[in-house]
Amino acid sequence: MPRPITATIHLGAIENNLQVVRRFAPGAKVWAVVKANAYGHGINHVWRSMAQTDGFAMLDLAEAVLLRELGWQGPILLLEGFFQPQDLALLDRYRLTTAVHSDWQLAAIADATLSAPLNVYLKVNSGMNRLGFAPERLREVWQRAQAVANIAELTLMSHFATADGPEGVTQQMATIETAATDIPLPRCLANSAATLWHPSTHGRWVRPGIILYGASPSGCWNDVAATGLQPAMTLSSEIIGIQQLKSGDRVGYGGRYSAAGAQRIGVVACGYADGYPRHAPTGTPVWVDGVLTRTLGTVSMDMLAVDLTPCPQVELGAEVELWGKRLPVDEVATAAGTLGYELLSALAARVPVVTEA
Ligand SMILES: *Cc1c(COP(=O)(O)O)cnc(C)c1O
Repeated sequence: MPRPITATIHLGAIENNLQVVRRFAPGAKVWAVVKANAYGHGINHVWRSMAQTDGFAMLDLAEAVLLRELGWQGPILLLEGFFQPQDLALLDRYRLTTAVHSDWQLAAIADATLSAPLNVYLKVNSGMNRLGFAPERLREVWQRAQAVANIAELTLMSHFATADGPEGVTQQMATIETAATDIPLPRCLANSAATLWHPSTHGRWVRPGIILYGASPSGCWNDVAATGLQPAMTLSSEIIGIQQLKSGDRVGYGGRYSAAGAQRIGVVACGYADGYPRHAPTGTPVWVDGVLTRTLGTVSMDMLAVDLTPCPQVELGAEVELWGKRLPVDEVATAAGTLGYELLSALAARVPVVTEA
């Protein structure tokens, strides 16, 4: 018997979530973002369920090649562009659309020998200060790009820092409008948060990631609970040990939880080497045999402990959901001081993945 831990990928949820995106951005084409191996879900497992998308976006060239080899013939966008001029041979061979955020990339495209011109996304830094040309330079870069014979279509790209919060996109949109005055390029600006909450950003293409996997861009499930999004991954395991504690007995490394009275606890086959956050404190929600309960003490590499007080019926082998259909990953992430993005994409390679319709 293998360890009882499993990640179940709900393909119907992914299809549904793409439809939710279409409902929020009816006039835009969709780049389904599948970076970080589809946010931990496995590109090989999920891409067919997203095949109604208009294109796929990621940043790892190997993932782009994988998607081609799996059979996707539509557009693929490299969100960070290429990392060295030699990569252009693969961009040419696999027909990849590329972001261009630096002068050297534009020069490399101009100098390359290609079988056909490439589509290029000019990335402007509108305030996040990660990648992109300074907004004052957009016109000059655009004019240069237009003169490059190796470039086919041009699109204007930017990325938002605060689309999921109260600050919104106002300031960055103003920067983009100023920089792009009289520059008639189609636009691709919106991440998940902007796709849901800032229709003015939609433009020609949107680039949602996290919502395709049924988690919230803000980290708060309540913010998306009414949208119809469905969690695409359930991480489940079983109770493999039960202990009866007396008052003062302690649990786990560091003895960081101690029982105030008699208490029955369960031990779950899931730890931080599976991708469960080690920083999840006592009290992190966990679903055991149909009942919402809480973790106790420090998460170990391979195990964690749960309170069985609210579910006295539980025996060895009882089903545990760490996150998923019944317990949004956002709620576990919030307890652990992180986001669903990090938990999903950190699912460990040792966890067996199964898919279901
Ligand atoms: C990751 C990423 C996205 C998708 O972000 P979500 O918040 O997951 O929707 C879009 N654009 C770029 C450039 C990204 O790096």
